[in-house]
Amino acid sequence: MTTVIDGKLVAEDVVATVQKAAELLRAEAGVTPGLAVVIVGEDPASQVYVASKSRKAKDCGFHSVQHTLPAETSQADLLALIAGLNADPEIHGILVQLPLPEQIDSGAVIQAIAPEKDVDGFTYVNVGKLGAGAAETAFVPCTPAGSMVLIERVRGRDLSGLNAVVVGRSNIVGKPMANLLLAANCTVTVAHSRTHDLPALCRTADILVAAVGRPEMIRGDWVKEGATVIDVGINRIPAPEKGEGKQRLVGDVAYAEAERRAGAITPVPGGVGPMTIAMLMANTLVSACRAAGRTPPR
Ligand code: NDP
Repeated sequence: MTTVIDGKLVAEDVVATVQKAAELLRAEAGVTPGLAVVIVGEDPASQVYVASKSRKAKDCGFHSVQHTLPAETSQADLLALIAGLNADPEIHGILVQLPLPEQIDSGAVIQAIAPEKDVDGFTYVNVGKLGAGAAETAFVPCTPAGSMVLIERVRGRDLSGLNAVVVGRSNIVGKPMANLLLAANCTVTVAHSRTHDLPALCRTADILVAAVGRPEMIRGDWVKEGATVIDVGINRIPAPEKGEGKQRLVGDVAYAEAERRAGAITPVPGGVGPMTIAMLMANTLVSACRAAGRTPPR
C-alpha cells in the first residue's frame, strides 16, 4: 500500500502549532511575531502568493504588514525600505517576493535583509549556516524545510544511511534540500541537467526529491520499490478536457505511474505546495522567539 502524503493536512498541523506558540509568546513575553511582505510591481501570480502569505500570517495571530510598491520603484528606495524593516523591533520576518523588476538587483536586495529576519533563508549567512551543519541556528528556505517535515512524517527523524537523490540544484530548493538530507545522515546525490543516466540514479534512491520544473519528467520505472517520493514541481499544462484554454497542475513526477512503486508519495497539488507557506509562518515564529530570548518550538 502506498501512502499518499497529505501536505495540506500536515501544513494545517504546522500552522496550528505556530498559532498556539504565538499565543503563548504573546501571553508570556508580550511579543507578537511580525511578518513584513514586500512586493514590487503588479505580477498577478506574485500578488496571489503575497496575499495568501499575508492572510496566513493574520490567521496565525501575527502582526502582518504588506508593502506594495509601484513597478518603477528604484533599488535605492527598496533598500531604504528594507533598512527600515531591519531596524523595526515589531518585525521579525522580512520577505521580498521575487521576481523583482529589471531595474532592481534582486541579489543586492535579498542580501540587504538582516540574516536574523531572513525567514526565506536566502542570505549568505543562513545559506552558510545550513551548509556548515548549523541548521538549528539558521533559517532554512521554506520549500525544502517543508519537504523535510513531510519526509520525517513518513520515515521518522533519523534517516541514517538512506540513499537520497535530489533532482535539481537550485539555491531555493535543490541545494538546501540536499544539505538537510545530509544533516539527517542520508547519503545524498544531487542530480541536474548534466547528470548521466538519471533514470538509473533515481532507481538507487530510498528518498527521491524532484525539483526540476519539467512536467512529469520522472517516470514510474525510475522509482525504486518502496521509495519515498517528494515532488516539489509545480507545472501548469493544458487541460482541454476541462474546456478550451484551461490548465491543470502536475508535478515533476508522473504520479499515476510512480504511485504504483513508491512506498509514500506527495501529490501535486496538495503535497509540498501547502508546506511552503506553513514553514514561512514557522520561521517567523522562530525569529520572534529568538528575539525574545526564548527557545523556539521544534
Ligand atoms: P530551477 O529552474 O531554479 O532549477 C531547476 C533544476 O532542475 C536545475 O538545477 C536544473 O539543472 C535541473 N534540471 C532541469 N532540467 C533537467 C533535466 N532534464 N534533468 C535533470 N535536471 C534538470 O527551479 P526551482 O528549483 O526554483 O523549482 C523547481 C520546481 O519546483 C519548479 O517546478 C517550481 O515551480 C517548483 N517549486 C515549487 C515550490 C513549492 O512551493 N512547492 C517552491 C519553489 C519551486 P541545471 O542546474 O543543470 O540547469
